Order: sequence, then structure tokens, then C-alpha cells
Amino acid sequence: MPVPLLEIFSSAQGEGPLVGCRQLFLRLAGCNLTCAYCDTPVILDKRGCKLELIPGSNEFTYLPEPLEIQQIAAIVHRYYDLSRHHAISITGGEPLQHHLLLKEMLPLLSGTKQGVFLETNGILYQELEQVIADIDIISMDIKLPSVAGIEPCWEQHRRFLRVALAKKIFLYIKIVVSSKTAPAELAIAWQLIKAEAPDVIVIIQPVTASPGITAPNTQQLLHWQQQALADINDVRIIAQTHRVLGLL
Ligand code: SF4
Repeated sequence: MPVPLLEIFSSAQGEGPLVGCRQLFLRLAGCNLTCAYCDTPVILDKRGCKLELIPGSNEFTYLPEPLEIQQIAAIVHRYYDLSRHHAISITGGEPLQHHLLLKEMLPLLSGTKQGVFLETNGILYQELEQVIADIDIISMDIKLPSVAGIEPCWEQHRRFLRVALAKKIFLYIKIVVSSKTAPAELAIAWQLIKAEAPDVIVIIQPVTASPGITAPNTQQLLHWQQQALADINDVRIIAQTHRVLGLL
């Protein structure tokens, strides 16, 4: 089965409570959303899949597409020492769009300290159900329409949380906020988390500013955190550190 793979690289996790952990990233193409602040490539590069053999070198080899699952597993094990990685980070785009190939590929990527880390927008709960047996850690988003510029996804997020937490997996929730964040939407998010997962770590992540997108100020961030802490046990403010450090 061909895998629409955009890039493979070894780097430090830049977001959330596992920030700084060394991970091997596999970025899959395609996404089911179109967030206003999206800074991630989601379309396949016609040169092929980008491979950074020397971490941090910013020098890339391009592997001709299409790549088969077995080829990807062989490349990963040939070029990277998985025993020195915290986890394999399956990212995108939205990797759960490719749940059928993940089901085949993930068992071939063992050897890291903590297994498979899935970075997802937290919408495709039925697809998650198909692959959750092979996943060890989930970073899921709760999308705020006022920030992402998309339709509300509260019910999908609720169902996603239920599927994930049924496995007693290590999961945390990331909520990207901007200066345009609607307080009423945050209130819905806090109630949703309180009802479904009050003990899950919640990350308030200020958006990285770009043309037309402004980050919230410190007063807003601290106010939102304080509000959330009334109902949720562990709420942290963490920015995108890979942007500061110039990491991939
Ligand atoms: S879910 Fe992630 S990859 Fe998809 S559009 Fe939104 S920010 Fe970009």
C-alpha cells in the first residue's frame, strides 16, 4: 500500500508536555481541515519524500514516491537508532485519514522507548478506533472556530476523547488560541473537558503570529488558564518551542 509521506526527520518535540523529547517524525500528507493558522505542509512535494539524514543539518535527500510501507520501515531502521528516540511521532496533516495504512505500518516501527505518538486534530474518532491498539501517546487538538476559522467540532472531539480514554492511553489536549479567541468557545471547551476528561493535561498554546494572525497577550493567556483551572486539574501554557529554536 503506497504511503503519502511528506518527510522523515529526527528532532525534538516542540509542543506540549513532552516538549524536548527526541522523536522520529513521519509526516503524512493531507488534512480534513483548513485551519486559518496552519503552517504545515500538507501536499506531497513532487521531488519526493524529504529525508533529513543528519539531524539539524537542514540538508535533505528526496526519496521517490510512491513509497511502500515495507520500504518506509526499512529506511527508518536503516538510518535512525530508534532506541535513542522517545517515540515515533506520526504527524500531518491529519494522519488518521490514512488509518488503513497506519494499521499495517505502525507494528513495523517498534524500538523506541515509549512507542508511537500520534499527533491529531481530534476529529476522526471512527478511524482512531481502528488503530488505537498500536498507539501509545496521543496529542489531540480541540479546535476553536473563532481561531481556526472552521465549523464547530465539539461532538467529534467528545467522541474522539471517549475512544481514546477507553484505552487508558497517555493523552493530552492542545487548544490553540489567538487574540481573536471567543470566550464563549473556551467555556464550551472547558465544560467538554470537565465532563469527559478532567484529569487530562490541557495545553493552552498561543498561536505563532503570521500575517493576519495575532497571538493573544499575556493577560489573556493567564486569565484563560485561571478560568480553566476551576474545572480542570492540569492546565498549562506552552508555546511552540521548535519555532524559537529553529528546529524542524
Ligand atoms: S488540522 Fe493541523 S494540519 Fe490540518 S489544517 Fe489544521 S493546523 Fe493544518
